[in-house]
Amino acid sequence: MKIEHIGIAVKSLETADKIFAQLFNQQAYKHETVESESVTTSFFQLGQSKIELLEASDPTSAIAKFIAKRGEGIHHIAFEVEDIYVELKRLREEGFQVLNDQPKKGADNKLVAFVHPRDCHGVLVELCQEIKNE
Ligand code: ZN
Repeated sequence: MKIEHIGIAVKSLETADKIFAQLFNQQAYKHETVESESVTTSFFQLGQSKIELLEASDPTSAIAKFIAKRGEGIHHIAFEVEDIYVELKRLREEGFQVLNDQPKKGADNKLVAFVHPRDCHGVLVELCQEIKNE
């Protein structure tokens, strides 16, 4: 596993984009809306890892609920795995609660699934695997 990205929940992507662009001295390389999650995202590349900014695109979004409860800040840590199906099976057997029955298509051409923060000392863990085009 490696840290693929860190997800940060923000109220305004437009405002946060500018701040993080100043911080990293580079622009976001991608903006993407994920309809299934009701989020708009932007990505910054930092060496092998990325920072994903997430803004809720509607009030029912998990990001909107997160911000209402805890404010802006780090929302999840994503680990890249070779085979997400194998890894999810292993984690379930270890007793982790996986929040998705099946991996789903997330931002940045990835299959993703989440592990409940209750099982990881308060950290929402995302597993992701690059979608390979046959
Ligand atoms: Zn993510």
